[in-house]
Parts: sequence; structure tokens; C-alpha cells
Amino acid sequence: MDPVEILRSMKDALGGGGETALAAVEERLRDPFAVLIATVLSHRTRDERTSEATMNLFGRFRTPQELAAAGEAEVSELIRGVGFYKNKARAIIRIANEITTKYGGRVPRDLEALMELPSVGRKTANCVLVYGFGLEAIPVDTHVHRISNRLGLVETSTPEETELRLMEKFPKATWTDVNDTFVSFGKEICRPVGPRCPICPLTEICKHYNSGFGQTRKMKRKGMDMDRKERAKSGGEGKSGEL
Ligand code: SF4
Repeated sequence: MDPVEILRSMKDALGGGGETALAAVEERLRDPFAVLIATVLSHRTRDERTSEATMNLFGRFRTPQELAAAGEAEVSELIRGVGFYKNKARAIIRIANEITTKYGGRVPRDLEALMELPSVGRKTANCVLVYGFGLEAIPVDTHVHRISNRLGLVETSTPEETELRLMEKFPKATWTDVNDTFVSFGKEICRPVGPRCPICPLTEICKHYNSGFGQTRKMKRKGMDMDRKERAKSGGEGKSGEL
């Protein structure tokens, strides 16, 4: 199946729902700095908590200059809902400080410059390009990496390799869509544990499903159905008072 077709099938399966925290922040604040900070806050944190902490923080400090001058204790309190909030408070103040002193308060629009900021790696930098500036890039997080390999779209062992392979496979015009769609699909359907294959539109082409994983699930379900029928024949299931 054509990669663009795969993307379309995922979107159809999501039924228009499943917007990521970063897309929501971009829509509400329309600010690359907010996207950058939200991405740092989102590490190992649920979407709702990321959005809440970002809104708390930007309700109080609106610009890199303001955040650079903020006290660590106050920032920690505002983002308390996210994982590792004390470390993240320290990190985002340092990022704000660097953007203020080195870039005159404007977030750089360039991958290398972004990656030079403290606590900013390749995935975060790519997220800023896509969600903050609308530039073509493919941020690869754990969902994008896992699903791409499960489907057999790539055979890679690191997110960096996955990013390069996906850039070869998807037309540039679709790059800004890949992260949001894969991440939502990874949360709703192709979950890390217990992927919901029975409702997935990609079973026919999915390498993971067709490598025996899906068959095992089908056989298990068939076995359970047969057990249930047998139990029903021999006196019913879940009879009240049964010992
Ligand atoms: S078939 Fe299952 S493992 Fe494959 S992409 Fe769909 S949900 Fe994921």
C-alpha cells in the first residue's frame, strides 16, 4: 500500500479525532516558543497534563524574556502536573534564557540551532519545526518508530534511522501530517501493549500482524469461543450458585 494511502487509512480510522497535545497548543497559542516548551513538558507525560501545564505557564509568563527571569520554585509549581517537573522547570528557564540572550527572544527556525538549545534533542527540534513553524519535517517519537516498524514501512533500530527512511517514503507535502497522525493512531489503535488489531484497517499489510501475532490472537479468540460453547453445552456459563 502506498504510504499516503496508509496515512489516509489511519486518519479514517481515527474518525477526525485524536489531536495531539502539541497540535492543540499550536492551535490555542500560535507561538513557536509555546510549542518548544510544551514539547519539553510532554516528555513522559500524558497529553492532558502537558496541555494543562503549558496553559498554566503561559498564563503567567508569555515570552522567553519573562520566563528567563522567572523563579524556579514558581515555575515548578505551575507545571507540577507533568513528570519530572523540577528538572523540567530548570530546563525551560535555561532554554528561555538562551533564546533571549542568543537569539534576541525569537525561537530559531533551524534544526541545528534548535538542537544546540539545552535539553533539546532531534525529536523536540523537529516538533518545533512542524508544529511551531509549519515547516516540513518528520518528528519521530516512540509511537512513530514503533508503528513504522510494525507495519514494515521501515526496518530500523533507532528513531533517527526511521526519520530518514520515512522522509524517503512519504512525499514532502505530507511530512507535517505524519507525526500527528501516527501519534494519535499509536495512542488510540496501535498501542504499545495490546494493539487493537481487530479494529485496525491495516491488518492486511501489517508485517507484525501477519508474522503470527495476529494469527495467535485469532486462534486465542477462536479457542475462547469454543470453550464458551463447550461450557454452555455442559450446563451453562456463570450459573448462579455454581461451585
Ligand atoms: S494490525 Fe495491529 S500491529 Fe499492525 S498496525 Fe494495526 S494495530 Fe498495529
